[in-house]
Amino acid sequence: MKIEDFSIFELSYLVKKRQIRPSAIVEHYLKNIEDKNDELNAFISINEKVLDEAKELDARLDRGEELPVYAGIPLAIKDNINIEGMETTCASEILRGYEATYDATVIKKLREKGFLFIGKTNLDEFAMGSSTEFSAFGPSRNPYNPEYVTGGSSGGSAAAVAAKMAQAALGSDTGGSIRLPASFCGVYGLKPTYGRVSRFGLVAYASSLDQIGPLARNVEDIAILLSVIAGWDSKDSTTSNMPVSDYFEYVFENRKKEEYRIALPKEYWGEGLDEKVREPLEEFIGFLKMNRFKVERVSLPHTRYAIPAYYIIATAEASSNLGRFDGVRYGRRKTGRNFREMIENTRGEFFGEEVKRRILLGTFALSTGYYEDYYLKAQKARTLIINDFRNVFHEFDFVIAPTSPTLPFKIGEKMDDPLKMYLSDIYTVSPNLAGLPAINIPVGTSDGLPVGIQLIGNYFSENRMLKFAYFVEKEYRR
Ligand code: GLN
Repeated sequence: MKIEDFSIFELSYLVKKRQIRPSAIVEHYLKNIEDKNDELNAFISINEKVLDEAKELDARLDRGEELPVYAGIPLAIKDNINIEGMETTCASEILRGYEATYDATVIKKLREKGFLFIGKTNLDEFAMGSSTEFSAFGPSRNPYNPEYVTGGSSGGSAAAVAAKMAQAALGSDTGGSIRLPASFCGVYGLKPTYGRVSRFGLVAYASSLDQIGPLARNVEDIAILLSVIAGWDSKDSTTSNMPVSDYFEYVFENRKKEEYRIALPKEYWGEGLDEKVREPLEEFIGFLKMNRFKVERVSLPHTRYAIPAYYIIATAEASSNLGRFDGVRYGRRKTGRNFREMIENTRGEFFGEEVKRRILLGTFALSTGYYEDYYLKAQKARTLIINDFRNVFHEFDFVIAPTSPTLPFKIGEKMDDPLKMYLSDIYTVSPNLAGLPAINIPVGTSDGLPVGIQLIGNYFSENRMLKFAYFVEKEYRR
């Protein structure tokens, strides 16, 4: 078996038993990066020190020292999450060259458990997009077929995991940015419950929606990573103090087959869902029925407001969050005759088209005279969407929906039509608006391109969701 075929748990066991050296793991993944990254453009930067860090772990093992549990396992990190001493670019010209001065909480936690960071991955600028084409570093390419997009915005992380350039990765998800690329690249990707994972050290896009989460090739790895990164953080006041389960233990030890009650919302399975996506998904629904789970059609009647509400709220919050990029506090600066002109020149020159479009939209939605018509209405729609889910979760454990309405599309195909691009998120934005956890589970391919289903759970039900995902991973033959 190759190193990339082991799970985190297996690798950590082999390292502990001194059957694999951390440097061998890192060298293996660096080699894959060398072979594939030129084509796929998954990484914006590689951690030059990672091999030395692995060799240092080798030496400690040789001295008979006890190492942290996941010592030497390399992860890829989306380039909007701070790692001290490495660049954080957010795939934007405005931050090119900006070096992070501290570790994000998720990085600190992973570091304490021995994980290494092999590089920073590509994304849509400031995580705004659905294809990773809005990157100042060029698009990432789908490992299944490089003419196609990876999905976005965490496309670099998804491609890195799918093409085995890292053991697993972190992404961020504001409206689907973990799940959509996970679906397009055929890997698992979890957006946890809002407040489950600290965002301290994540560059904020839309703060009432953003969550950090893991992408991986198997459910065990997702469970381990979530166990490490989840939990209350004094540096992020939106984190919850709900106790963190040992998700890995729960998924792995708890083998008893459960009964699941599954809701299929008709609004997610109707018109607009590409037949090429529908077919493998319906086959999967057949598998659920064969297992005698309760599978029923339900309605989430306010689903049609999700995209408009999301794009008002997300852009409103983004326009405020991005105010800090003024040429003074972070990153690059253009000159001007006075202070105002300097800021205008800096932002005008260094923000990309899509980011500017969103700042304009968001500023407009918040301006006097329009606030009630747009922002306030969007917040009301958000409450209706939350209540829809509440009602369904009285009687069901999970909601199952497609992750994406279409197969991965060709690079360039939706670049001229922002609304078409926004519609890629039609099935993923509602869990963010409601703060619910949701995971992409790969269930097959169509025309040689991956298709995923989206499992949406009730608040803080990640352990049951992962158990379900594990059951599917082991039992579902596509
Ligand atoms: N595609 C959505 C957007 O552009 C979601 C992005 C994300 O989740 N970061 O806003």
